[in-house]
Amino acid sequence: MDKEERVELAKLLFPNVSKTRDDYEKMYPKRKLNKDAMVTRYGPSPTGSVHLGNLFSAFCDMVYARQSEGSFYLRIEDTDQKRAVEGGIDNITSVLKGFQILPTEGYHFEGEYGPYQQSKRTEIYQTYVKELIENNLAYPCFMTEEELNQIKEEQTIIKTKIGIYGVYAVDRDLSLEEIKQKLANHEEYVIRLKSPGNANKQIEIVDCIKGKLKFKEHDMDTVLLKKDGTPTYHLAHVIDDHLMQTTHVIRGDEWVSSLPLHIQLFEVLGFIPPKYAHIAPLTIKDQETGTIRKLSKRKDPWAGAKFYEEQGIPIDALHLYLATIANTNFEEWYLNHSDKKISDFTFTFEKQAVGGTSFDEDKLTNLCKTYFSHKNGEEVYKETLAYTKKFDPQYYELLLSNKDVMVAFLNIEKDGPRPRKDISKYSDVKEEFSYAIDELFEKENYSKYDGDKEYDVRLVLEYLNDLNLDHSNEEWFQGIKEFAVQKGYAPSPKEYKKSPDKYKGHVGDICEAIRVMLTGRTKSPDLFSIMKILGIEKIKNRVALYQKVVAK
Ligand code: GLU
Repeated sequence: MDKEERVELAKLLFPNVSKTRDDYEKMYPKRKLNKDAMVTRYGPSPTGSVHLGNLFSAFCDMVYARQSEGSFYLRIEDTDQKRAVEGGIDNITSVLKGFQILPTEGYHFEGEYGPYQQSKRTEIYQTYVKELIENNLAYPCFMTEEELNQIKEEQTIIKTKIGIYGVYAVDRDLSLEEIKQKLANHEEYVIRLKSPGNANKQIEIVDCIKGKLKFKEHDMDTVLLKKDGTPTYHLAHVIDDHLMQTTHVIRGDEWVSSLPLHIQLFEVLGFIPPKYAHIAPLTIKDQETGTIRKLSKRKDPWAGAKFYEEQGIPIDALHLYLATIANTNFEEWYLNHSDKKISDFTFTFEKQAVGGTSFDEDKLTNLCKTYFSHKNGEEVYKETLAYTKKFDPQYYELLLSNKDVMVAFLNIEKDGPRPRKDISKYSDVKEEFSYAIDELFEKENYSKYDGDKEYDVRLVLEYLNDLNLDHSNEEWFQGIKEFAVQKGYAPSPKEYKKSPDKYKGHVGDICEAIRVMLTGRTKSPDLFSIMKILGIEKIKNRVALYQKVVAK
């Protein structure tokens, strides 16, 4: 076919495409950004729940764009409508908002480089493909499913590369007349790339994270437009990243093998390719087999974004964790600069892990505990309130009507140099402070007490006669020690250990008895603080409750 015929064919195939490539180039003017500004994008497909790995790549998009004063945009990649699930797009935007990974532009956000949803861009893709046809770089392929399967079978038998290329690309050189005939017969077709590649040649691509990568040149006549005229992901991504002027494609490394195709598409379309940064997957040690595998939504609760919301993992702590896995030197930096914000750190691709990054539940839990330890009672109360409103409405009501007492409990042991570190997520509050709200304590009281020891109610009641809640902590402790000695207990565990036969126990045993009666637990924050908040009446009520429920 000569140029004239190809132009005729292009018109025939795309009668409704009226714009030209130049029209679109004008509609997407050059971004006004600094030379080093990065334009990144998160391109999720709305195919179901969001994986932590997706969030992680979106987090990287965000930090690199932010630190270079560039732009981070959200593009919905819904070229595969068959895999799209209902509510999938809303889920993506709500997860991003919930996790505070906020694009500066894009779908659901503002922006001048849209539409930011691939299913709304069909005409744009067709315009560029129309031009590829004119330039002899694409062609309609009328092969049926049956024919394709036959080729695949044949290729499998002779153990050659699967796909449409070389001799298998039978529709590559159809004449205009032949094509017209097939169109007149209403034969279905896709548009394929007329790949100019040669698999005997090697190409080198430099990935920002993985470094130099060598590949065979792409030589497949890959599908660009499907039978219904909508694009494949490969084509859509290339045209979008060109028009939207992405500077860095940061994405999961399952896409590395598609790189030769993507680079070729940039070339045939006459675009300058962006830089690529392929992120290693998050891995985990399989409990059953002991092998390292990808973090899986099916097997690992920690893999799904929803889990974090449901459990009430604080976003700031999760961001710290994501920063830790993003750059290997972040953790050390943060240890020395814990007063600083993540945005004060400069992320680099050089410090990004090349192999799989192992997911470390303990590290995340620890970061969460540190997060809570730095928050005062009022702050923890407010955040827990917001969490329970959505995930535990009954507890939310209780929190609302017990604000002062709850804040007081949450404030225990917060002032010292080593603030209390017990909570790692909002859902822990109810359990850890189960004794704080009367209604809850009365309902559950000692059901969670896991000890088999029974405590001396009379001894505790006797002690209560001595108790002065206006004392300082030191005075209180002095007082209970004296009481212990009077009753034949050692004033310290150390004394007791020296001559256990001399004593019934030590002061700690009396404290434990009081603690269990007041809280239903053998471990709690500072006991005297708890007693002060409860007040003498409630203290007595709880001892009576203990007597009724536990003591025989
Ligand atoms: N839509 C692709 C996915 O969900 C994104 C690939 C890319 O970022 O280029 O995996």
